[in-house]
Amino acid sequence: MTRQETIYDMLIVGGGPAGLSAAIYASRARMSVLVIEAMLSGGQIATTERLENYPGFPEGIGGAEFGQLLEAQARRFGTEMVLATVTGVSSEGEIKTVQTSNGTYRGRTLLIASGTRPRALGVPGEEEFKGRGVSYCATCDGFFYQDQEVAVVGGGDSALQEAMFLTKFASKVYIIHRRDQLRAINILRERAKANPKIEFLLDSQVRTINGTDSVESVTVYNKKLDKTREVKVSGIFLYVGLIPNTDFLDSSIKVDEYGYIITNEAMETSVAGVYAAGDIRQKSLRQVVTAVADGAIAAVSANNYLYG
Ligand code: NAP
Repeated sequence: MTRQETIYDMLIVGGGPAGLSAAIYASRARMSVLVIEAMLSGGQIATTERLENYPGFPEGIGGAEFGQLLEAQARRFGTEMVLATVTGVSSEGEIKTVQTSNGTYRGRTLLIASGTRPRALGVPGEEEFKGRGVSYCATCDGFFYQDQEVAVVGGGDSALQEAMFLTKFASKVYIIHRRDQLRAINILRERAKANPKIEFLLDSQVRTINGTDSVESVTVYNKKLDKTREVKVSGIFLYVGLIPNTDFLDSSIKVDEYGYIITNEAMETSVAGVYAAGDIRQKSLRQVVTAVADGAIAAVSANNYLYG
């Protein structure tokens, strides 16, 4: 039988920590599992240089390596994987279907673990210079900025962590944040403030990203001083938050006002047999450790739903 003829016990949209953790638990419980992933095993964490706060790795572990290990573990128990972009789901009824760039797949249960994507800043020059100085991934593009000056926008954990990563290559990293208080956790704040290559531009907003062929500067407005200045940089990394990847969902799966899927503690959504896990879910802590826990719970709930 081909994959498209098979009715899987569990279809999983997203091969990040939540989806792959669910795959490990479900396939180890002898459920047939198909994971549909558009890019990379590990999802967002695969684009993080180092994962430092996942228990059991005292020296940390590379994000991409962590993703590959999760995939290998899931495959070892029989999980199948396809590389495809999901375009729609039909979640009502006993058989759920997922439409993708590669065809349609069917399952008796469905787990949405599609995570989030970076939010755009929405300033002039951002679209124009995407891939030519504007980036959303320091791990992917940082290497290109050896001995150059770059800017990071945002004041959260991502902005500070990735700014520190960029100091490995860049001669200087400006962190441009719209308030005078950083959102990031203490340990990251302390480390960033102690880093001699980092300069904070607080109470500041990027107005435009400028250049000819590639980024040459950013225009920054300081609202406390009511002054605008031009900061010469050859790259700008945007870390201004996340957007849930729910564009393909059908309307019967309930989401909150920000678009995150609402579940109960068993990871059940508003539709029977449909679960959500990881960053896509309405929750208070978006971390790998909570994503893998969600995935495990969702797999057990799906198993109970099918086999009681
Ligand atoms: P975030 O926590 O939502 O922070 C986004 C930052 O961007 C905030 O500082 C926000 O400013 C700023 N911002 C939002 N919209 C903006 C705009 N239009 N213009 C200028 N600035 C704007 O996002 P994140 O840092 O990507 O983190 C996402 C989640 O991943 C969090 O739960 C975080 O804890 C987690 N994470 C954890 C780690 C770690 O544990 N090491 C690392 C990375 C991420 P305001 O502060 O003024 O709102």
